[in-house]
Amino acid sequence: MDLSNLWQAALGEIELNLSRAAFATWFSGTTILSQEKRTIIIGVPDNFKKTWLEKKYYKIILKALRDINPKISQVQFQISKVNEKNKTTKKDKKEVKKINPKITTRSIFNGVDSETNLNARYQFENFVVGSFNELAHAACQAIINNLGTLYNPFFVYGGVGLGKTHLIQATGNIIAKKHPKKRIKYVTADKFSNQLVSALQRGTINQFKDIYRDNVDVLIIDDVQFISGREKTQIEFFHTFNALYEKNKQIIISSDRPPKAISTLEERLRSRLEGGMVADISLPDLETRIAILKKKAEQKNIIIPEEIIEYIAQSIKQNIRELEGAFNKVIASHQLNNIPLTKDFAKKTLIKSINIRQKNITPKQVIQAVANFYEVKVNDLIKKSRRKEIAWPRQIAMYLLREELNISFPTIGEKLGGRDHTTVMYAHEKISQEIQNSDSLRQEVDFIKEKIYNK
Ligand code: ADP
Ligand code: MG
Repeated sequence: MDLSNLWQAALGEIELNLSRAAFATWFSGTTILSQEKRTIIIGVPDNFKKTWLEKKYYKIILKALRDINPKISQVQFQISKVNEKNKTTKKDKKEVKKINPKITTRSIFNGVDSETNLNARYQFENFVVGSFNELAHAACQAIINNLGTLYNPFFVYGGVGLGKTHLIQATGNIIAKKHPKKRIKYVTADKFSNQLVSALQRGTINQFKDIYRDNVDVLIIDDVQFISGREKTQIEFFHTFNALYEKNKQIIISSDRPPKAISTLEERLRSRLEGGMVADISLPDLETRIAILKKKAEQKNIIIPEEIIEYIAQSIKQNIRELEGAFNKVIASHQLNNIPLTKDFAKKTLIKSINIRQKNITPKQVIQAVANFYEVKVNDLIKKSRRKEIAWPRQIAMYLLREELNISFPTIGEKLGGRDHTTVMYAHEKISQEIQNSDSLRQEVDFIKEKIYNK
């Protein structure tokens, strides 16, 4: 196995332990540069990321690598420019020209088109359809041939790692192919919001409007739940939405929950979103999970025994990203250590990562980790203490108990100072909101999670 496969597999593992934002922030643009005996040298784009990875993620990185190859004993970081392979190649440029000869500044970087922001890796050829995503898939197919007229807006929702991004990007990619003149824009709601804020600060709001209102035929917004609570973003999004809608431009939106469940979503925006087609993606059944893994094997040109595919598919039910991660891990580990692919081997390899999520983490461990982080006493958190400096750690503990262990609100209330379930619900909502708006809080919570899971 080469180093890039090793890094891919390790990243798959690392991703499972981090929030989406943290992963994207710290790990984008990283590669393995070389291996010197038992040391892996990782290339990072800049010094800032280097320091951060060394300080905060060293353990996680080393563990992920060692899970695949136990001989690795050390990791070092080196600043390196993105390697040649990832740069725009001549071939890419030619292809771009074919699509739109007028645009000269367009480029493709890491598979992402700078004009549309679409990633070429998301295609329908590698998207498996089952009853869990049938409706959403069919709606997208219909949209491709009836842009702006049939299902507008189109709103798809579903849990993490179930293929929302894949579906809406594949739709964008097909539209780009079939309708080369249409201007397509893919953006995450988070990025949309950040761009808006900086446009407001710099006084370049007209430019912003120009991009999203006047120069788009198909607007694809991913993870729209991230705009909940952000007032300015919602207002601007509402206007963008109306401007496009009135011109019959196609709008495609994804979210991790239905419009109704996005709290603090302005009413008029909510009813706009509900006004088109709403489809959900639920959980894939066993057959579909098997089909997804078979497709992966086919893509990678790997022959893998049926019973192993079945074993992996049976072990991971909630999340296709995790399913892929587990698969990659087994393959990587097999190739690297030259061990025959048996069910037993797969079991051994996976036991660690499957356990990461389902490990018997107890509420006590969560509370302990929070107490350690904020340097308060566990007793203060669980007793009736109303001291002010306890309030914040307690809210974080409530949030984590809910998010990580899925404990009911009343039970959490009982465990933490005998609070009413509404207090817990409030805390959970508040922290969820704040995490979305504050990178530092997100990192703080990620850090506590690392402590919980890396015990
Ligand atoms: P979400 O946006 O819902 O969190 P993603 O679209 O990022 O999920 O999907 C997670 C991973 O699973 C991606 O690597 C994606 O390619 C893969 N995936 C999701 N759905 C499917 C599917 N139906 N068939 C094949 N691969 C899928
Ligand atoms: Mg997504």
